[in-house]
Amino acid sequence: MPAQGQHRKPRSLSRLTRICVIAGTGGVAIALPLVGADIASAQTPASAPAAVAAQAPHAAPKAAPKATQYKVVRGDTLSKIATSHHVAGGWHRVYNDNKTVIGSNPNIIRPGEKLTLNGPNTAQHAVVKKAVPAPAKKAVKPAAKPAAVKTTDSGYTKPVGNAAIGTPYHQAGSNWSSGYHTGVDFLVGTGTPIHAIAAGTVVSAGWDGAYGNDVIIKHPDGKYTLYAHQSQLLVSAGQTVTEGQQIGLSGATGNVTGPHLHFEVRTTPYYGSDIDPVAYLAAHGVTV
Ligand SMILES: [Zn+2]
Repeated sequence: MPAQGQHRKPRSLSRLTRICVIAGTGGVAIALPLVGADIASAQTPASAPAAVAAQAPHAAPKAAPKATQYKVVRGDTLSKIATSHHVAGGWHRVYNDNKTVIGSNPNIIRPGEKLTLNGPNTAQHAVVKKAVPAPAKKAVKPAAKPAAVKTTDSGYTKPVGNAAIGTPYHQAGSNWSSGYHTGVDFLVGTGTPIHAIAAGTVVSAGWDGAYGNDVIIKHPDGKYTLYAHQSQLLVSAGQTVTEGQQIGLSGATGNVTGPHLHFEVRTTPYYGSDIDPVAYLAAHGVTV
């Protein structure tokens, strides 16, 4: 094999020119000879059209012209290339089909760059950047409703606004040290206002291990309520609160897999003295 560097370009060029003439008048032989010029330089020009005819006997002359490769040489411009190769759509088409190679400035092309001419790929390029807009999904409506909560005549109210219940009370599982779920989980996003279910006195407010930031309130009936995993606490120990008063914001602190309010009712301030929180609320006229 002779060194190709010297000979290749001129030969391709002359072949390109010739093929263009053929393409311009007949059209059939447009693709393969050009590819051949690039790849199989040993092939003679004469043999190429024959090969094409043999391969695609039924191809209509105007059937989708295949993409051809053209190597930019010194002195080329897009419009010159488009004109000399009869690219339908002119230099705009050449540019559109080769933006990734050429870059943002169609006036600058560099010798050696390989351009695709007359390719059937226009459609592809047109749809490339169809960004699929991610549906704005809000996990749970955070604080959509203002802090106003509906209180009941009984003096009790919900700890959060309308929210689905996740893990129910007493569900057995290895996640809990007592062997079962000691409260009820309300599925609310981080930042949802949390309310004292009844008037009382804050026993503790702060970090509480697996509970994250929680608030424990003692109520006049001797029961305690606990509000866990809060992102922000708005009360402190010793403080008295009224029914429905906002005591913090929900979150995902402590041992959680996601934001929610873990709510407990206890007979003492201590872990393990829990009673059914949903039944307790229901007994006071609050349905969750
Ligand atoms: Zn829980």
